[in-house]
Amino acid sequence: SKYSGKNKYLVCTDEMKHQVNEKIELTNDLHSALANNELLLMYQPQINVEKDSIYGFEALIRWQHPDRGLISPGVFIPLAEQSGLINSIGEWVLREACTQNARWIKEGYGEHIMAVNISVDQLKDDSFTDLVADILKTTHMTPKFLELEVTESVAIHEKDKVIERLADLRALGIAIAIDDFGTEYSSLSRLKKLPIDRLKLAMEFVRNIDKSEKDQALVKVIIELSRNMNLNLIAEGVETREELDYLLNNGCNEIQGYYYFKPMTVEAIESAMKEGDFS
Ligand code: C2E
Ligand code: CA
Ligand code: CA
Repeated sequence: SKYSGKNKYLVCTDEMKHQVNEKIELTNDLHSALANNELLLMYQPQINVEKDSIYGFEALIRWQHPDRGLISPGVFIPLAEQSGLINSIGEWVLREACTQNARWIKEGYGEHIMAVNISVDQLKDDSFTDLVADILKTTHMTPKFLELEVTESVAIHEKDKVIERLADLRALGIAIAIDDFGTEYSSLSRLKKLPIDRLKLAMEFVRNIDKSEKDQALVKVIIELSRNMNLNLIAEGVETREELDYLLNNGCNEIQGYYYFKPMTVEAIESAMKEGDFS
């Protein structure tokens, strides 16, 4: 009836108001999160199954909010992007991840690649290449152990200037990975132009790999594509033995996901390394 329709509308408005207020409050708090030391990084191992070893770690940010507890980046990174805070937060992430990796290398924990997520706003900043060069220098990080992850949508929708920037970054000696690959259906000609080193197969294809023949076909094409283009390919979000087996049987040997490891704290990684759980 009309009546219940009206009711629904009111409920919806309250809910929307609540959500907007939440966003404003969180964004306000986010302004002081950096200065208050509330941000932290977790690290998720990236495995080369063929070599039976960890080749890298992806740095994943978390926010330890004083009242609300641990907040995931899916919630606050969009707010950081909307409010312009992403550049300072992104700089902190890069510096922290490089400092950590340089320390691990120096202390004999092994030479691994550190993969860091980059937002499009960071990439659009004209001083970004200089910033990365400065961070490498001040943290004593060898460039070949840093990889920047940019999403496929950035790599295909942005202007050529962004592509030039990727080339400049790569010229520093670091690697570029395309995150969530497969979701945007990049054209081959576009892909050929991209100065990149690795594709990250989007989790949604991994998830349906044992159910959907369409996704199986797509995954096979992407594996073939990466091979022909001489790119590394890692599958992310691998949770089950079935998913893993399908990927390995079809020639994708780089794996990231809960099947092996969840994102871990520095302490957990160091004790795993000391106990020889990591090769
Ligand atoms: P992403 O870059 O695609 O990262 C992968 C996400 O999948 C991470 O979520 C990771 O914890 C999760 N994951 C890993 N393995 C599995 C699995 O087997 N199953 C499932 N279900 N999930 C898995 P997280 O840490 O919550 O990060 C979410 C997103 O937030 C990231 O997606 C990335 O886009 C963004 N993000 C995280 N850290 C940063 C950062 O430092 N800077 C920027 N700009 N974005 C970040
Ligand atoms: Ca990523
Ligand atoms: Ca991803």
